Amino acid sequence: MSQPDDRSETRLRVSSEAVHQRRRRAAGAGALALAAFVVWGIASLGGGSSSSAPADAFASRIQAIGGIGSGSLLAKVTKVDEAAIDSVLVTTPYIVKGGGEKKAVALTFDDGPSEYTPRVLAILRNQGVSGTFFSLGGLISTFGPNSVSARDAGNVIADHTWSHPQLPTLSIGEQQSEINRTSAAITALGLDAPRLFRPPYGAYDQATLAAAKKKKMLLVLWDVDSLDWSRPGVDAIVNNVLSQVQSGSIILMHDGGGPREQTLAALPRIIEGLRTRGYSMVTVPRLLAEDPPRAGETPPPVGAGA
Ligand code: ZN
Repeated sequence: MSQPDDRSETRLRVSSEAVHQRRRRAAGAGALALAAFVVWGIASLGGGSSSSAPADAFASRIQAIGGIGSGSLLAKVTKVDEAAIDSVLVTTPYIVKGGGEKKAVALTFDDGPSEYTPRVLAILRNQGVSGTFFSLGGLISTFGPNSVSARDAGNVIADHTWSHPQLPTLSIGEQQSEINRTSAAITALGLDAPRLFRPPYGAYDQATLAAAKKKKMLLVLWDVDSLDWSRPGVDAIVNNVLSQVQSGSIILMHDGGGPREQTLAALPRIIEGLRTRGYSMVTVPRLLAEDPPRAGETPPPVGAGA
């Protein structure tokens, strides 16, 4: 449902409710270990004297530092986020939402980078929130600088294949190529290798999982679809999000793949509405660090006859 041709969405798409129930039954030992690590990681970010600095000063320090260098604050943030991803990957190869224990959600943007990406970034920057951008490798040669700007502003760049295919129709080699070429294009920009992957249309099979595992990537699906790709009107996009959102939600929007004026008009209202409802908006890795899915859940059966 992330694109016009998403209407035949595969049945491999995970039911968030099923995941939720498995999560409820799951033990929390891994989550506790992660929480301990995250507390350590966040405590280490402040670097002593600055640990009591207000949050906006913290953000401006990240902005000021800009690029990732060894020992930079941004690099330390990345390390904590990567540890959160590693911890989740121990228990599941995919997620549809966070743990739901905190009032935090993740805004995600697919099918860029594009000419719309700078305008999305400007809205996020003005509102003081960060997002996660699932990017197409095939667009990076044209719009790559927009991905760099996104990263520099504290957003996360993730992998959404090279050419947006229906992955289950491809061989494992072709699937690996779609994922790996995009990862290489992202790192060629000077960005970290992506650790998050979203299959186009939410469609994947065992070969996709194997290809992602090889690159230590976590599949990130979603539980709230704004349906912005169908351009249903700004009010409808806003309502689609605000009527479905819950703690831990991963919200699907698009910064590419077609005209996105409606998305751009809806985004400030969505952010305002989420804030009014008490939600903070964070990147997917940050959501995993602060509100991880519960440890112990098992992946659904995939690929059988699909
Ligand atoms: Zn897409």
